Amino acid sequence: MSGQQYDLAVIGGGIQGAGIALFAQRAGLKVVLLERDALARGASGVNAGTLTMQMTRAALIPYALKAHEMWLKAPQWLGHDVGVVACDGLSLAFTEAEEQLLEERGTARRAAGAPINLISASEALKIEPGINPDIRMASHCSIDGYANAYLTGLAYHRALTGSGVDLREYTPVSGVEPAGSGYDLRVPDGIIHARQVALTGGVWIEPMLAWLGLHVPIKTLVNQLAVTERAAPLMRTVVGIASGLLSLKQYPHGTVVIGGGWQGEGSREQNCHRSTHASTVGNARLATHAIPALRHSRIVRIWTGFEAETADALPAIGPVPGFPGLWVCGSAHSGYTSAPYMARCLTQAILGEEPEMPLFPIDRLLARPDAAPRYKEQDCQ
Ligand SMILES: Cc1cc2nc3c(=O)[nH]c(=O)nc-3n(C[C@H](O)[C@H](O)[C@H](O)COP(=O)(O)OP(=O)(O)OC[C@H]3O[C@@H](n4cnc5c(N)ncnc54)[C@H](O)[C@@H]3O)c2cc1C
Repeated sequence: MSGQQYDLAVIGGGIQGAGIALFAQRAGLKVVLLERDALARGASGVNAGTLTMQMTRAALIPYALKAHEMWLKAPQWLGHDVGVVACDGLSLAFTEAEEQLLEERGTARRAAGAPINLISASEALKIEPGINPDIRMASHCSIDGYANAYLTGLAYHRALTGSGVDLREYTPVSGVEPAGSGYDLRVPDGIIHARQVALTGGVWIEPMLAWLGLHVPIKTLVNQLAVTERAAPLMRTVVGIASGLLSLKQYPHGTVVIGGGWQGEGSREQNCHRSTHASTVGNARLATHAIPALRHSRIVRIWTGFEAETADALPAIGPVPGFPGLWVCGSAHSGYTSAPYMARCLTQAILGEEPEMPLFPIDRLLARPDAAPRYKEQDCQ
């Protein structure tokens, strides 16, 4: 065993891993964070930055609400600005079926604590005059907004190094195994030993758990986004549609980010992903349908990233069964929104405390080792 000993090793420097490392170090643990690329260059650095209740599953609303409060205070606990803008959120219905969807989803999310109300077309147009007047109704949420995901890595980098976390970028971990009163981690320059380990590899949680002989299938979504050139003010809220296939907001400097889960293509195994023409066209059509004035703006960049999803679409956050001191954290739907609070809850468990809110243990997700992956791999060549 080498001389590198830690209380906690976190593997994966996305927003979940960065949060856990930061909170644990501040609570007094000696922490190493291992990221095979630069910090927050995966999903956590390329996402649409929406801090949303309208697109968050009802079961996760209580976490998202707590996290929203944290995001608003990011300069206080993170020490750095990530461009958070709090605003209203609107989800639009153009058809009867979409009206019904808004009613069902709004009811479930309101019951979970989100301040979501159904409003008429004229009320929606008063809030956001630029939306298509053909809407039938909308759901309105007073707690919505967005951050600048691009700034996330920068902010966490400063906070982590400032708090004394041993941050090791460009350091892939190739295996973890029980050793003594903890675990040995294989890294390019040897072995690191840690009493506890958190696996926070986004879509790569599945291969990480495979190091320990466990199989938790993680579906790999290839989310696609686009951004327009700078435009005069077109909108001030976050706008979506009932189906969930649109998320639109205009940043203070004028660019509009267009997303909503349109799928590109790619391969987790090859760690590559790219946009598709069909998704670009479909997403842009929907965006200009929702905000007609957007049709005068040109798209200047399209990009993609991997989003992780479990078999039941609920997060994988909790202890790894059979491996004391080993934890997993990821696969949260709208995971950027709720990440700071989920990282805080898991850190409480790592510290031996009762988490403020229940975790999402992975026992329910364990599959037979020979079970086939649920997602379809696509070649990236
Ligand atoms: C295009 C897109 C748009 C999205 N939009 C939104 C949105 O608007 N709002 C919202 O709430 N959510 C959004 N999401 C979801 C959100 O971005 C993710 O849920 C969240 O960022 C996941 O964070 P994470 O830390 O779990 O994973 P990641 O950010 O993927 O981090 C995992 C890290 O682990 C590292 N890693 C993997 N294997 C190893 C290894 N062996 N050794 C060392 N490091 C390793 C990877 O390099 C990666 O950096 C979006 C996602 C995408 C892709």
